[in-house]
Order: sequence, then C-alpha cells, then structure tokens
Amino acid sequence: MMASDVPHYINGRRVAGKSGRASPVFNPAIGQQIAAVSLANAAEVDEAVTAAKRAFPEWAAVTPLRRSRIINRFLRICEERGEELAKVISQEHGKLLTDARGEVQRGMEVVEFATGAPHLLKGDYSEDVGTRVDSYAVRQPLGVVVGITPFNFPAMVPMWMFPVALACGNTFVLKPSERDPSGALLIADWLKEAGVPDGAFNVVQGDKEAVDALLKHPDVAAVSFVGSTPIARYIYQTATHEGKRCQALGGAKNHMVIMPDADMDQAVDALMGAAYGAAGERCMAISVAVPIGKKTADTLIEKLTPRVRGLKIGPGSDLDAEMGPLVTKAHRDRVHSYIDTGVAEGAKLVVDGRDFKMQGYENGYFLGGTLFDDVTTDMKIYKDEIFGPVLSVVRSPDYETAAKMINENEYGNGTSIFTRDGDAAREFAHRIQVGMVGVNIPIPIPMAYHSFGGWKASFFGDHDMHGLEGVRFYTKLKTITSRWPVGIASGAEFAFPNM
Ligand code: NAD
Repeated sequence: MMASDVPHYINGRRVAGKSGRASPVFNPAIGQQIAAVSLANAAEVDEAVTAAKRAFPEWAAVTPLRRSRIINRFLRICEERGEELAKVISQEHGKLLTDARGEVQRGMEVVEFATGAPHLLKGDYSEDVGTRVDSYAVRQPLGVVVGITPFNFPAMVPMWMFPVALACGNTFVLKPSERDPSGALLIADWLKEAGVPDGAFNVVQGDKEAVDALLKHPDVAAVSFVGSTPIARYIYQTATHEGKRCQALGGAKNHMVIMPDADMDQAVDALMGAAYGAAGERCMAISVAVPIGKKTADTLIEKLTPRVRGLKIGPGSDLDAEMGPLVTKAHRDRVHSYIDTGVAEGAKLVVDGRDFKMQGYENGYFLGGTLFDDVTTDMKIYKDEIFGPVLSVVRSPDYETAAKMINENEYGNGTSIFTRDGDAAREFAHRIQVGMVGVNIPIPIPMAYHSFGGWKASFFGDHDMHGLEGVRFYTKLKTITSRWPVGIASGAEFAFPNM
C-alpha cells in the first residue's frame, strides 16, 4: 500500500483515508509520482454525505443574500490566491501554468455568477388567477448534491457546479478526479475561510468504489457529472434509476469547418490553439478540421504543417511553451497507439509526434503535435475521442457533405465554422446538431451566465451546467396557489378546481 497523503475533506476538516486503498498522483512533466491519493470506501462516502445532510437545514435557512455574500468572499480569496491553485493544477495535470490560470479564471466567473443568487432565485407571482386567488412559484434547494469531475479541468469543472449549488442552498460533496485531486482541498479550505459552514462542502477522493457509493446513497438528491461518454452514460442510468436528478456531460469529437472564403491565417491560428492547446485534453478541443474544397484543404495543410512542427512544447512551468505533457504515461501511450492506428488505417501522417523527446524531461509524458490528412469517417481515429494533440483533416467536397458528417457524428459537444459569409454561418448555426457552436470562434465555451452543455452522446440529462440552467438543475420548483377570502369556510367544493 502507498502512503496516502492527499486526504478527504469532511465536515470542515481534512480527514485521512481509512480504506487502505490509494492511487498514485504523478507530475507528468517529470514522469514521477509526487503523492498518493486516498480512495474512499462506502463508509467514508457515507461520512461525507451524512455531514452534508446535517449541514443542509442550516445552510438552506441562510438567506440567499447572506449566502451570496459568503460566495463573494470566496471569490475574493480566489482573486488573491488563484495563482496557488493554478500551480497545484499545473503540477498534477501537466498543463501550462498560463492555461491553468485561464481555467481558474473561467471557474471564478461562475462563482461571480452565483453571487447573483438572490436575483436568480426570485420566483413568479400571478395575482388574481381566480377571484381573490393568487399563485406564486418559488425554487427551493434539493438537499445534498454531488459533483463527479474529470482530470482535465480540476478547478473549472467543479466550479461549474458547487458555486451555483451552494448559492441555491444545497450542500455539496465533490468527488474530484483521482489523477489531480489536490486543488479540491484548497477550494474546500477557502470556502470554509469565506464562511461556508462545516459540512456544507465536502470532498471525497476516490474511484469507481466511491462513485458507486455516492450514486446509491439514499441521501444524495442529485448528481452532476463531467467525464467520458461511457462513464457519463453509466452515471446517468444509475443515478436516475436510483431516483436522483442527474446531468452527465460526456466526451466529444469537435469539428471545425473551414469555408473557401475563410481568412486562412485566422483559421490556422485558431486551429493551432484549439487542437493543440492543453495537449488536446479539452472536451472543446477541435480534433477534426474540415476544409471545404481541394484548394482550401491544400492551403490549410500547407500553412498548418510548419506550425505543428514548430509547436513549442515544455513543462507547465515554462511560460513560453504552447503545449505541455499528457496527464499520465498510460494516456500518453494510448494516444501514441491511436497514431499507429491512423497510419495502419491509411490516413496520411503529415506531422508525426510519436518520437518527440523533451530535453531535460525525458521521463515526462510528452508527445509531439500530430497532424493527419486524408482522414475518412470510417476510420477509428475519426470516430473515437483521442483526447491528445492529434488533429485529423477530413477533406470535404462541399458544405452540405460537411454538415451531414457533423450531424451524423455520435458526439455533439462543440463545433465551429470559419467563413466570411454571414448566410453560411447563419445556416450552420441553425442546422447543426451540436450544443455549442462557434462562428469564427474555435472554442465556443459559453460564459458563466449562459449555460454549458453538448448534445447527443456528449450529454445525458435535461439541464446544462451553470447559468440559469444550473439554477434550475439545483432547485425544485414549488407553485403555491393561495386564497385569503372572506368566508373561506363557506363549504366544500367537489368539482375539479377550475379558476
Ligand atoms: P473519466 O470518465 O475517466 O472520469 C471522470 C470521473 O469519473 C472521475 O472522477 C473518475 O474518477 C470517475 N470514473 C472513472 N471511471 C469510472 C467508473 N468506471 N465508474 C464510476 N466512476 C468512474 O474522464 P477523464 O479521463 O477524467 O476526463 C476526460 C473525459 O472527460 C473526456 O472524455 C472529455 O471529453 C470529458 N470531458 C467532458 C466535458 C464536457 O463538458 N462535456 C468537460 C471536460 C471533460
């Protein structure tokens, strides 16, 4: 058994794991284990859920304005100490420090949104729905809600969830990814410092065993999940079978259409960041470029090739680097084997990242930027989410073929079109079967006050994350019909109420 030095956080304090199980945490840049994280068993999960259940009545009774002020204090702490969080993320995940700062910033925007809870929780009121009868609707918290989050955004994805959940009066149990678990503990400390009462925010570290215990726990009212599609499907099916509310965001295969009239330099710049930023480990990464027509495709390949070859790769701490290592050796090897598969399937390997070695970091989980041309939709490298720095170019003879391909793809998280033609852009935005669409924007991540969520196999559930959809997910609607008439005791009415 490994020493387990990344603990849980239950009822306002850090709690060492008792299960006897732990999982290694690596620094991907140097390829070494730097910690071990405890893996909770069902008893430890129960401890966290029970703490959250106990804290719920008190936290739900705090007025929305006072809860907002506490969330606001948390925001101030994040502003002051966000760099500390970014460093922890960069170290365990491997992403560039600049990129980690970006994710903390995007997460803080949701915290900022959640400070508006008093306004967001305002109900509706209809006077005189019947004679002297009024009707009003209020949104009330659900109880104990759970967040299960992926490795690729260890701060931002939890921050899509808990600020809104807490602001709405719920208590929260976070199960972070076991690959980069430490940021969650900093967040827990800061929430406590901001004034969130003990038990209102808890962290259970763990793997499938902890997740299953959370899904089955009778006191968990709702589950928010972000991760790969097979697990999202499993989480949604299990949680809803257990009678819980669930939103489960899954994997992606995001296409960028490049029309013949697009500004090619702008499109190439956009593709470089969107395909290779964070080493392609983003659910909104563009992994398929779809140039329309031969001339567009040839120009795209000609302009992209030297840029991909020239990618500046380095450890997260290198402020000049454009791309860091992958998260684990196993994941690097998996992406490596997808490149082998692409070659075997007959795709044209234009830039091969397989042999890349990072000087001074030979044991790190690095891979060079990889570019495939002539990829076809029957290939595994097109169909599967690779989640690495591998961009596939699928040449399309015309716009119609491209749109049909995207609509027929299993996933529907994000997509983008680069064009100067407003009509083409409008038609694309209207018709495409994808949840988040960019027009001359490669990674169209909605702002905190809008909502995030894909379609098809990228999303299971009804309500997207954050924004008003988040408020709806974390509250239940109650509608009250009320009469204060004179002479209410005038007698029973047996016909169905009809205003
Ligand atoms: P993952 O599905 O392996 O893990 C996500 C979470 O599920 C983790 O907390 C993990 O501990 C837990 N988990 C893993 N296996 C499980 C199992 N068998 N049973 C129960 N729980 C299990 O995903 P990941 O590798 O951490 O993250 C990358 C994936 O997440 C990619 O597919 C990416 O597209 C997706 N993602 C999607 C979005 C989105 O908004 N749609 C955002 C970020 C990441």
